[in-house]
Amino acid sequence: MSLFDKYNQVNARHDRLVAAGRDPFNVCMDRIVSATEAIVDGREVILVGTNNYLGLTFDPDCIESTVEAIRREGTGTTGSRIANGTYASHRALEQEIAAFLGRRSAMVFPTGYQANLGVIAGLAGPKDIILLDSDSHASIYDGCRLSGATLIRFRHNSPADLDKRLERLKDDSSSKLVIVEGIYSMLGDQAPLDEFVDVKRRHPSVELLVDEAHSLGVFGDNGRGIAEAYGVEKDVDYVVGTFSKSLGAVGGFGASDNPEFEQLRFTSRPYMFTASSSPSSVATAMATLSKIKSQPQLRKQLWENARALYKGLSDLGFPICAAASPIIAVKLPSEEAAVFMWNALFSAGVYVNLALPPGTPDGSCLLRCSLSAAHTPAQVQRVCEVFDQAYRAMKVWRDTQSAAE
Ligand code: PMP
Repeated sequence: MSLFDKYNQVNARHDRLVAAGRDPFNVCMDRIVSATEAIVDGREVILVGTNNYLGLTFDPDCIESTVEAIRREGTGTTGSRIANGTYASHRALEQEIAAFLGRRSAMVFPTGYQANLGVIAGLAGPKDIILLDSDSHASIYDGCRLSGATLIRFRHNSPADLDKRLERLKDDSSSKLVIVEGIYSMLGDQAPLDEFVDVKRRHPSVELLVDEAHSLGVFGDNGRGIAEAYGVEKDVDYVVGTFSKSLGAVGGFGASDNPEFEQLRFTSRPYMFTASSSPSSVATAMATLSKIKSQPQLRKQLWENARALYKGLSDLGFPICAAASPIIAVKLPSEEAAVFMWNALFSAGVYVNLALPPGTPDGSCLLRCSLSAAHTPAQVQRVCEVFDQAYRAMKVWRDTQSAAE
């Protein structure tokens, strides 16, 4: 019995996927041309699955600041904050994030995944209770597991279900942390944060954490995220975010007004026992954050592109999982159809994310698009045309399959 035997089923499924065309989970971009284009196998591909919401990865000012930081501070920090020390740039970025969000303090982590691990497992312990949305990202689930807290999942985006579960716990004196996301990464649906805040107000001892990974830079008049958009920032106790989406870097953060939040620096293992963020990631995040503040037109452009793709695909009759947003997930009737469509889109020069169960809610098979402010109207139109062609090809293939059966 080998340790790898447990993966036999997964491998068989992966082999079937690859037999249908290209390996959707192992695409190699030979050359990145811009925020929205790459060269794969000598051909240009439009990137519509990058989470590069504001298209800042090729911004010349941000590149310049990053190159300068590497020259000044080197390629890596080679150790953790508690062992090797904090660079002034870590501290400056933390102050900048805290000021941007209007919070007392912020802590930077090497990735968004670790930010969830570090904040959740830092805040909650074995004697506490975490109530989390059932569709939460893997990093939230993993942070909860690491905390050792009792986990209670409530129905996705259901303040009523959360309320019911909190009601049942009203005589339980444990500390309680509720966790939701701003916009959910797979379907692109938003949390009804105002309603969650109403529930929180009915249960005063409860604290609320919002993961703004996909909503920072995207929602709110100033790009502060979904809590800003709903006008409920004061009711959110902890914000977690990532640099890997609208901020075009790698890293993550937690931020709070709680004066005790800083204690996580010497109690949170995912913060303490890993190398600190590299000077390049810190410099990029600093530069892109300043673009979020100074260039609100990027957000406007992003939403124009998102609405254009949403309309284009809806007009073609594609079922889209949520209201228009920079994440547009098209639902396909089966895994075979989704894989066929994904290959047809890729062959025609459009890269989207193939998302399959168990990584998707409700066992859905999805073609997930994420828009960027850097997409041009011509690219958005081309994506719609290619979706249409791919769907027609998929129908012919399906008819041939069923005739042969
Ligand atoms: N939270 C959510 C909701 C996410 O979707 C992701 C990544 N997709 C993360 C956290 C982790 O962020 P990162 O990839 O920057 O580690």
